[in-house]
Amino acid sequence: MVKESQSSGRSRRPLIVMKFGGTSVGSAERMQGVADILKEHAGHADMVVVVSAMGGATDMLIRAANQASDGQEEPWKGSRQELARRHREVADQLLSASEQSSVLPRLAELVKHFENLCSGFTLLHEITPRGMDTLSSLGEVMSATLMAAILRSSGLKAEAVDATECIVTDDNFGNASPLFDETGAKTHARLGPLLKRSVIPVVTGFRGATKEGVCTTLGRGGSDYSATILGSALDATEVWIWTDVDGVLTADPRLVPEARILPEVSYREAIELSFFGAKVLHPRTIQPVMQKEIPVWIKNSFNPSCPGTKIVAAPRNGHGGVKAITSVKDAVLITLSGRNSISFPQLAARVFNCLYLENVSTLMVTQSSADNVLCFAIHQADLLRVKTQLEKAFELEMLHDYVGMLEVMPRVAIVVTVGENMKGTPGITGRAFGALGRKGINVIAIAQGSSELSISFAIKSSDMKEAVKAVHEEFNL
Ligand code: ASP
Ligand code: MG
Repeated sequence: MVKESQSSGRSRRPLIVMKFGGTSVGSAERMQGVADILKEHAGHADMVVVVSAMGGATDMLIRAANQASDGQEEPWKGSRQELARRHREVADQLLSASEQSSVLPRLAELVKHFENLCSGFTLLHEITPRGMDTLSSLGEVMSATLMAAILRSSGLKAEAVDATECIVTDDNFGNASPLFDETGAKTHARLGPLLKRSVIPVVTGFRGATKEGVCTTLGRGGSDYSATILGSALDATEVWIWTDVDGVLTADPRLVPEARILPEVSYREAIELSFFGAKVLHPRTIQPVMQKEIPVWIKNSFNPSCPGTKIVAAPRNGHGGVKAITSVKDAVLITLSGRNSISFPQLAARVFNCLYLENVSTLMVTQSSADNVLCFAIHQADLLRVKTQLEKAFELEMLHDYVGMLEVMPRVAIVVTVGENMKGTPGITGRAFGALGRKGINVIAIAQGSSELSISFAIKSSDMKEAVKAVHEEFNL
């Protein structure tokens, strides 16, 4: 039913969801750049725009919320001024007089909302997860309001839309997941009529709402995810993620200056790369578009003529084997031994239950059944929570020394080689090992899934830069 109303409602022009990140809307100049990009494409495609908050705004809002809940008033009052000033400055520079007269009061209202929320947190000395979501995503409401007005001032038809009217999520505040059926229906109902009238909806990234209408957020960096959720709901032709780099690179250019842009990567490669720390995409971005095979482009709003990277189901074959290298710097390795007292399946079941209870994903897992040892890597930031949970779960065994006291190896980096075509290509691990060995880098642990999409090596953090360079060179990336 939803599909029908779309095809009957819209012309057969392509529909592109364009998402602009924080740096791409970070100033009046950048926002004008966005308007220029959209004007260029308005002639041949329908567009839905998704915006992040102005660069730095979300961090500032979260800081303000925490200060407020500490009972401090001065710091968030400073943030209020800063929030008002930044948005006002853009409005002054880019909006026509008539737009200013409607948008400035709306921005002031949003600043007032910020103030009310912070006053509440200050009084209560507390901030709830739902309060945090409402406050931390206010930057998106402000930027969408402003951006829609800028587009109108540049002669385009545009309307700001709050994503709470489109994206329906569960109530996992701070890291909510979309409910796709509900989202599809609401998105069509809200955006369909605008598209039919050739109005560009400018939708707030990052936020959604529960079925009851309570504001949620999709996790830090979640505006990428907002774009693909909407792209999937609308059966968009493509999703374009405009950011501040030229595309997906073969490695982090801060580690490997010779890193180059990959013209095409597969959905699975993109997921793997973003999971392991490539900053270019929110890790869950690809999931909504994968099944429908909607292509996602990564493009640079600072360099719009550069084609960028296209993420598709089956990329045209590059050279076989390793395609890109990514790395996680701040990892720790945790080792537990069941000794002769706990069977391996029991050890594994109880350890993974602890991770489940803390909602922590492992970066890699290795085991030795003979030694009855389980070893896994997690982000350093998750260590305290996981350790506490493990100590609780194995309290009795540890007391009697049944489970080898949990061993934690800090300052570990995980280097990951990624590429669909590694599958069935022999010798890749050997070459990577060889390259590391020649540099005298010791591999602490290694893991490769049967999908052969990635191979992960745990090494000392201090070796990371050299390791990534060595592997990059070995595979001629
Ligand atoms: N503004 C949000 C953040 O900084 C969402 C985003 O930019 O994608 O996390
Ligand atoms: Mg981002």
